[in-house]
Parts: sequence; C-alpha cells; structure tokens
Amino acid sequence: MASPTVGVLALQGDVREHQRVLTDLGADVVLVRTPAQLEAVAGLVIPGGESSVIDKLSRLFEVAGPIRKRIEDGMPVFGTCAGLIMLADRVVDAISGQQSFGGLDVTVRRNAFGSQNQSFETELDVPELGEPAVHATFIRGPVVDAVGSRARVMAALPDGRVVAVAQGNLLGTSFHPEMNGEPRFHQYFLDRVAEHAG
Ligand code: GLN
Repeated sequence: MASPTVGVLALQGDVREHQRVLTDLGADVVLVRTPAQLEAVAGLVIPGGESSVIDKLSRLFEVAGPIRKRIEDGMPVFGTCAGLIMLADRVVDAISGQQSFGGLDVTVRRNAFGSQNQSFETELDVPELGEPAVHATFIRGPVVDAVGSRARVMAALPDGRVVAVAQGNLLGTSFHPEMNGEPRFHQYFLDRVAEHAG
C-alpha cells in the first residue's frame, strides 16, 4: 500500500528541515499553502518560525479555517516551536490579535526562554521514545505553562518545565528535532498518520 501523503505548512519558518526529515523517513511530502493543497494531505507538520507571522499568513491564504476543521476531524498534526504555539488552545504573551489554530488543551507562553542569544541545547529524556535521550535545540521557544486534562506531557526539563505534549493525533514540541537529525518525533507523527489513514 502506498504511504499517505503528508504536508508541511509552508507559509514561513524552517519548512525545508522538516521536509528533509520526513522524506528521509520515506514519506511522500508536499508543501501546503492553500486549502486545495491541504485537502490532499493526510497529516500536517507546522514548522518553527514566528507564530504571529504564520497566523497572519494562514488567514491571508484562507487556510486557517480549513486547518482548524481538519484538526477537529482528527488529522494528525505535529508542531515544533512556533508550530506548537499554533496548536495551543491558549497562548500567553501573544502579540495583539494573534490567533492559534488550537486543538491541544494546553497554555503556552511565547519566548519563555528569553531572546535569540539565550538559545540553548540540552539532552532531554523522553520516556516514550526510549534511549538515547533527545538532543533538543531551543530557539526562542515557548514553554507549556499549563496542561489541560485532555493533553499529556511527553517531556519536561529537569526543573519541571513542560516542553513536549501530545493529545490524540496532535504532538507539539518547544524545541526543534528537525534541526538535529532527530527522526523519532517525525516517525511518531507518521505512525499516527498511517493509523488515522488506515
Ligand atoms: N518565538 C517564536 C514565536 O513566537 C517561536 C520561535 C521558533 O519557532 N523557533 O513564534
């Protein structure tokens, strides 16, 4: 059976990096900017970048409403950093008027780790993914301030700050596995896609 086509939302951000990881895992990948392109995919990755820009462009391209609808219908979505912000039901420190697609029952706080030059990398224990620990790169990432009853924590820093969450077919990370040759989150996403499509 041919594997289902997955999309990377290609309005802004590190689209190519995600495309590369997914392609290396054998996925059939297309870039999504329009409602018609969205219709053709069985799952969507929302890249890191700038959530307020992704928000604005998604509304301008009239793909925001259709993405919300697909999320409600159970489409698997994986968001990294700005992508996690787009998936959060509640966003703290958003710019005026900023909206998210929502779906994840969490509250995220933008830029929670400080500015660009406070970016850092760390080894992160993600029990569900087993060994080895994930090498995680944080670049002006959000932190998950509150996890609602429908979502679950997938990873937290040693000080308890939550940086990866999942809920049904949705997955979000504060960091950028696509920048570290870390394929396990993308594989998790592709498994959800295969399950949902099958
Ligand atoms: N600070 C960015 C935002 O608010 C996210 C940064 C990133 O995706 N690397 O969208």
